[in-house]
Amino acid sequence: MEPLTEAQRKTLEDLYRRIDERVSPITGAHAWWPCRKGCDHCCRHLAAPLPVTRLEWTYLWEGFQALSPEARAEVRARVAELKGTQRPYTCPFLDRESGGCRVYAHRPMACRTYGFYVSRDKGNWCHFILELLEKHGDGDILWGNQEAMEDTLARLSGDTLSIFDWFDAAPTEGC
Ligand code: SF4
Ligand code: SF4
Repeated sequence: MEPLTEAQRKTLEDLYRRIDERVSPITGAHAWWPCRKGCDHCCRHLAAPLPVTRLEWTYLWEGFQALSPEARAEVRARVAELKGTQRPYTCPFLDRESGGCRVYAHRPMACRTYGFYVSRDKGNWCHFILELLEKHGDGDILWGNQEAMEDTLARLSGDTLSIFDWFDAAPTEGC
């Protein structure tokens, strides 16, 4: 797998920073916002394999390679187990004991925008957020545009595969 060029890294990290700049004011201004460290419900109930562009996968792969050999083996074993299973499923990158993402700094766009972005006026978020929005309202929330983000990534990167397919195409341990 070709490593990221510095220009690609900067482009992707700038994009992720823009998402952070959209998300931080929402969590910062609403003490009731439920997306906090310790909430891993969405990572345990993924409706479909995470779609990841090549650019994101290369970045995610760096995070994966930085894990311990034991953690990498566990993630690979989970990927193998999950093929052909019924949804919803638990993300193979989740540390099931701590509830933390093992590749948090390298996680893809879909994980960064979930909870804070809308597609064609439809919110990308879980039932916890939905219930709280019914109580508190969303009049002061500036949602992100999911489609614009997806289009930007597609323009930058070309092909998109599920993380399972990317793992299939990736080098095996020891190579
Ligand atoms: S999107 Fe929902 S499940 Fe995921 S972190 Fe936020 S509140 Fe928790
Ligand atoms: S990559 Fe990380 S943040 Fe995204 S679903 Fe998996 S465990 Fe959750």
